[in-house]
Amino acid sequence: MTARTEAIQQIAQSHCPHLSLTSEIDSIYGCDVFSLEVLQKRLPKPVFKALKATINKGELLDSSIADTVACVMKDWAIAKGATHYTHWFQPMTGLTAEKHDAFLSTTGEGRMINEFSGKMLICGEPDASSFPSGGIRSTFEARGYTAWDPTVPAFVIGTTLHIPTLFYSYSGEALDRKIPLLRSISALSRQALRILRLFGNEKATFVKPNVGPEQEYFLVDRRLAVLRPDIMLAGRTLTGTPPAKGQEMEDHYFGSIPERVLAFMQDVEHALFRLGIPAKTRHNEVAPGQFELAPIYEDANAAVDHNMIMMNLLHQIAPKHDFVCLLHEKPFAGVNGSGKHNNWSISDSEGNNLLDPGSTPLDNAQFLVFLAAVLRAVHKHSAVLRLGTVGAGNDHRLGANEAPPAIISVYLGDMLTDVLDTIMNGVKHAPGRTSMEIGVSLLPPLPVDLSDRNRTSPFAFTGNKFEFRAVGSSQSISPVNIALNTAMACALDDIATELETAVAGGVALNTALQELLPRLFREHQAVVFNGNGYSSDWPEEAARRGLPNLSTTVEALEHYSSPEVMEVFLRQNVLTEREMLARQEILLDSYAKSVSIEGALLLDMVRTRILPAALGEQTRLADTVLKTRSALGEAEAEEAHLAQLREHTSALFVTQKSLEKALDSQRVEKDVHNMAHIARDVVLPAMTACREHCDALERMVSAAAWPLPSYAELLWLH
Ligand code: ADP
Ligand code: MG
Repeated sequence: MTARTEAIQQIAQSHCPHLSLTSEIDSIYGCDVFSLEVLQKRLPKPVFKALKATINKGELLDSSIADTVACVMKDWAIAKGATHYTHWFQPMTGLTAEKHDAFLSTTGEGRMINEFSGKMLICGEPDASSFPSGGIRSTFEARGYTAWDPTVPAFVIGTTLHIPTLFYSYSGEALDRKIPLLRSISALSRQALRILRLFGNEKATFVKPNVGPEQEYFLVDRRLAVLRPDIMLAGRTLTGTPPAKGQEMEDHYFGSIPERVLAFMQDVEHALFRLGIPAKTRHNEVAPGQFELAPIYEDANAAVDHNMIMMNLLHQIAPKHDFVCLLHEKPFAGVNGSGKHNNWSISDSEGNNLLDPGSTPLDNAQFLVFLAAVLRAVHKHSAVLRLGTVGAGNDHRLGANEAPPAIISVYLGDMLTDVLDTIMNGVKHAPGRTSMEIGVSLLPPLPVDLSDRNRTSPFAFTGNKFEFRAVGSSQSISPVNIALNTAMACALDDIATELETAVAGGVALNTALQELLPRLFREHQAVVFNGNGYSSDWPEEAARRGLPNLSTTVEALEHYSSPEVMEVFLRQNVLTEREMLARQEILLDSYAKSVSIEGALLLDMVRTRILPAALGEQTRLADTVLKTRSALGEAEAEEAHLAQLREHTSALFVTQKSLEKALDSQRVEKDVHNMAHIARDVVLPAMTACREHCDALERMVSAAAWPLPSYAELLWLH
C-alpha cells in the first residue's frame, strides 16, 4: 500500500468530532483581552486618565505612568496563566513576529521573581538583522526597536502576553506595516476634518476608517497534504489535473457545511471570541473545500491586527482537526482561488458614517463631496491602490476571470451613477423630482446591500461602504488600507484646499460646490465602470479611458518609485522616500524568492516523485507490450499508449532541465529588479512548461502508482 492509499483509508475510517455548543459567547467574549475596561478597574484613576488621553491622541505611552500600567498588566496576565510576554509586531515578511521572554528576574540570592517594568512594556530591542529592511538597517546597527501601540489592547494567547507594537529602525524609520497604517489614519483624519469644518461641523474631533475583511480559505486533509511538498512548503499545488467534478455544479457555495469543517470553525470562533474578535459569518465558498470567515467591521488598526490573528489561528487550529488550512490565493489550478474583500468606510468621532448618503440636503452635499473624493482617489492614484495587492500568489488570481482585474475601477450602481449624471449635466432627475441642485434637493434613498451587486468590480459601492475586492487571501490588509487612506487623504486635501480658498474669498459654500462637484465628477467619471469586469472587452475599453492595467506584481512595484506615487505618500507624511524605496526592494525580493522557491520545489518533485513514477509505468508498460505481442501477435493499442507516455516523459526531462537553467540564471543575479523580472519572465513560464507534462503523465500513470494525492482527493475529502 502506498502512503497515499494508506492516508485515504485512514480518512475513511476516522470519526467526526462532536460539535461543541457556542452558547457561552457572553461569558468568554474578550476574556483574554487587556481592555480599557480591565484597565479602568485596576489602574489608579489619574493613571487611567493619563493613559486614556494618550490613547485618544494616538500617542505612545508616557514613561511616568508606564511602570504602573506594566505592573497591572503583568498581574492580570499571570492570573490568566501567562508566564511570558512578547512584543508582537508586523514586519515586512507579511507575517507577524514574536519573541517570548519570561516574566522572570533573579535576585542576588539565586531566587527568582516575576518582573515586568514600564521600560519592558514601552520598548523592546529585538535583534532585527533577520527581518527585511530594504537596506534601511545597515549591518552595524542591526537592532530594531519595538514600541507599544496602546491604541489596540494587549492580549493573552496560551501562556504568552502579546503586546501589539510598532517596529522601527535605529534611525526611526518604519520597518513594519503598522507605523505607515497609523500615519495614514492620521492623514485621513486631518484632511477629512477640514471638509467637516467647511460644512460647519465643529464637534468631530477625528475621522477614522472602518474595515471589515472577509477571509477566504481552503481546508485540505492533513494526512494527504503532508504527502505533497508543494502544499506543505508553498501553500499551493504546483502540479495536478482538474478533478472530474470541480465547481461546475455550483453546489458548494452556501451549501451545508460538513460536520468536520463546522467543528473546526467553532473552535476557531471560540478562540477569536476569547480575543474579542467579532467573528460573525461563516459559509462554504464557491470551490469545493473552500470556506469564508468574516468578522463585524472595526476601526482599521484593530481590524488589521485581528485579521493577522485570525490567519494565525486558522493555521494553528486546523491540524487539531486533521486539516491543513491554505490561505494561498491560488492553491489549485482550474478551481477558484481565494481573496479577501476589504470593506471600507470612514466615520467621524460621533459615529456618523461619511459614506452614508444621509437624510438632509446638507448631509447629501457632504456625502457627494466624499464620494467625489473617492472617485478622485481611485482615478488619480490607481497605482497606489494596486500596490496594496501585490504578491506572487495574487498574480495567479487578479485578472484571471475569477477575481476583479488588475484595472482598478469603481462600481457605483445604476442609481448613484444616475445621480452623478444629473449633477454633471444639470438636467432634471427622475420624474417628480426637482432639478438636482446640490445641497437643496435630496438624493433618492440608496438601498444598503444593493441587490444588483457587481461581483466583478475591484471597488464597489455597497450602500454606505466600498468593498475593495482585489486583496489576496494570504495578504495582510494593512497595505491596502494604507493605500486607501492615503489616496483618499490626498483627494480630500485637494478638495478642501479649493473649497477653503473659495470660502475665504467670500464665495458661499453651496455656490462653490455647484461649480466644483460637476467638474470633479466629469474629471473622474472615467473610473466609474458598472459593467462586467471579467469581460474581454473591458481591458481595451479601460485602455481607451486611460486607466492603467498593472497586471503583474513586478509591473505594479516598479511604480513605487514613480514621482506620482511618491508624491502621494510624501505629501501625506505616510512614508518617506527612503522607506518607499526600501519597501519596493523588499517586495521585489520577496516576489523573486517566492517564485524561485516554487521553482526549486517543482524541480524536486519532478525528479524524486513524478519522473520515477512515470519511468516505473513506462517499464511496466514496455513489459506488457512485449508479453501482449508474444501472446497475441500484436499490441498496437499498448504500443500507442507507451509511445504517448514516453513522449511526455522525454519532454519532462527536457523541460525540467530548462527550469533548472532558469533558476540558475536567477541565482547569479544580484539586482532585485532583475531577479523579479527573471522570476516572472523566465522561471514562471519554465514551471508552466514542466507542469504541462506532469499533468499529462498524471492522467496516464495508474492511480495506485501515482505518488501525489490528486485534486479530487484534496478537494473533496472532508
Ligand atoms: P457580503 O459582502 O459578503 O454580503 P456584508 O455586506 O454582510 O457581506 O459585509 C461584509 C463585511 O462588511 C462585514 O465584515 C461587515 O461587518 C462589513 N461592513 C458592514 N458595514 C460596514 C461599514 N460601514 N464599514 C466597513 N465595513 C462594513
Ligand atoms: Mg462582500
